[in-house]
Amino acid sequence: MPELPEVQTVLDGVVSSLGSLRLTGLYDLYPGTVKGANIEEAFPARLKNARRRGKYIIMELENGYALIIHLRMTGKLVWDKDEGEAHRHERAYFTVEKGNRLRFIDPRTFGKITLCPLDEVENHLPALGAEPLEAEFDAAYLQERLQNRRIPIKTALMDQGIVAGIGNIYACEILYRAGINPDAISNEIKLAHLKRIVAETKAVLAEALLHNGTSVSDFRQVDDKQGGFQEFLRVYQKESCPQGHPVKRSKHGGRSTFHCPICQTKGRVNPAK
Ligand SMILES: [Zn+2]
Repeated sequence: MPELPEVQTVLDGVVSSLGSLRLTGLYDLYPGTVKGANIEEAFPARLKNARRRGKYIIMELENGYALIIHLRMTGKLVWDKDEGEAHRHERAYFTVEKGNRLRFIDPRTFGKITLCPLDEVENHLPALGAEPLEAEFDAAYLQERLQNRRIPIKTALMDQGIVAGIGNIYACEILYRAGINPDAISNEIKLAHLKRIVAETKAVLAEALLHNGTSVSDFRQVDDKQGGFQEFLRVYQKESCPQGHPVKRSKHGGRSTFHCPICQTKGRVNPAK
């Protein structure tokens, strides 16, 4: 599932492929993928600004419309020529000037493209927590957001309302690097340990961005190349940690958690769990 580094990599790829070319149309190939009225009115248009919020790509058009793209589980955007058959699993596409096409390919079909007026973008987004790479995401923020939450810290890090953009892979890697047990109870973690979590969150995400994200299953860049951070994972889908200890596999919220019981001892774990 694309997380912050993968979504940012896709966004950067779309912006550099598109340059000043105009998007000339948006076409739905799978019912429900494209949402929003006035699709004819919104095109053609150039991109005025593009940004990421959590796992959402927000493309602001020069004519007062905006596109919100959510890749969800398996969505990807692929830059291609405007010719030939639709790809397998292609759910929608943008036509682009000079014979180009931006294809939205999504085997699991959970991804969405929403077109709306620019001033309504926030209404189409859920309540999202701090951006982890921004200064607002610090230990004091995390402590405040966790103060009433008796949930495992792994679950809290994946809660988009607490911090936006982290999913399963990076939650596992952040907690390994911080030495924190994924079952540590969120509102019992000491400030010093929250500081480690915040520092490792920023470090892991920044490193993953440098490597254009992690490709463990479907993720591809806009040019269909893989990301590179999978070479640097320490516990996710590993048999042993870098110290040679066996990695333990468990579940949080239905998602597989990987952690090292020897390296990750910080934070008090609920004895009832
Ligand atoms: Zn270990």
